[in-house]
Amino acid sequence: MKNITVIGSGTMGNGIAHLFAQNGFAVALVDINPTSLEKALKTIANNLDRQITKGTLTEDSKTQTLGNITTFTDLQKGVANADLVVEAATENIDLKLQIFKQLDEFAPKNAILASNTSSISITKIASATARPTQVVGMHFFNPVPVMKLVEIISGYATDKAVSQKIFELSTQLGKVPVVVNDYPGFVSNRILMPMLNEAFYALFEGVAGVEEIDTVMKLGMAHPMGPLQLADFVGLDVCLNILRVLHEGLGNPKYAPCPLLVNMVEAGHLGAKTGKGFYEYVPNSKATLVAERFR
Ligand code: NAD
Repeated sequence: MKNITVIGSGTMGNGIAHLFAQNGFAVALVDINPTSLEKALKTIANNLDRQITKGTLTEDSKTQTLGNITTFTDLQKGVANADLVVEAATENIDLKLQIFKQLDEFAPKNAILASNTSSISITKIASATARPTQVVGMHFFNPVPVMKLVEIISGYATDKAVSQKIFELSTQLGKVPVVVNDYPGFVSNRILMPMLNEAFYALFEGVAGVEEIDTVMKLGMAHPMGPLQLADFVGLDVCLNILRVLHEGLGNPKYAPCPLLVNMVEAGHLGAKTGKGFYEYVPNSKATLVAERFR
């Protein structure tokens, strides 16, 4: 594989483009929004600068990495030479189905089509194409250049040789891949989200306050961040959507989203990105407790 197309240049797309470009692949980065493409290139340049400051990258490698990335707003042009497409557009099922229909139409017939989706069925996404055996999940974690794991999701129709190719490619990128089957939440979110939901319930039922719950999990379980703060960083709307996917897809009431989470999302308190969730976020200062709500 030489030519990689990344669809979507947001949080994940820019990280995925960065990773492939730094490893010598030719990357076509596609987004319908030109401002997002500009922002992505700036973010990648800033992140490469950080690597230079740390002494893990040279100026020359930075120039080469940036030189490996070409941006497109036209999907058809962006996928024309792809050996692999990694889709990292907005998490919306109708949008993904539409994108995969286009990818199937315009990408070379032997290209592998991967999705970075956190929660949408790979089997469903594959059904929008005439090549379901070549559709696979390639689930990276944020920040992509730093996080080691790639969760590879094998859909119902995915050819084993395709998952194997993505496994080898992930290793080549310096990642640790794990192959899992396609069921709601895969492995990562099937285990993470119920844990976060239990933390929301513990707060909701008055078992303990925000700080106490996070401290127990940080110091007692050696988690680098408490579950409530982690939920704030993931985005409370994202947590709610994934819990709904688990609840609906697995049909078990244990996945029902905590009513407190539902209320917070409805109030627009989505966590770090809106400045308020379980904590309050002011740029360039430490997160503080939203004390008046939860104590
Ligand atoms: P984001 O909102 O930061 O970026 C999405 C980008 O997709 C935007 O730039 C948007 O303009 C673009 N886009 C929308 N429609 C498009 C189209 N038709 N063609 C091309 N580009 C289009 O989202 P994100 O957080 O980067 O998430 C992207 C995907 O990665 C989602 O499927 C999400 O579930 C998954 N994911 C996110 C995280 C995370 O921590 N943010 C982690 C793992 C997986």
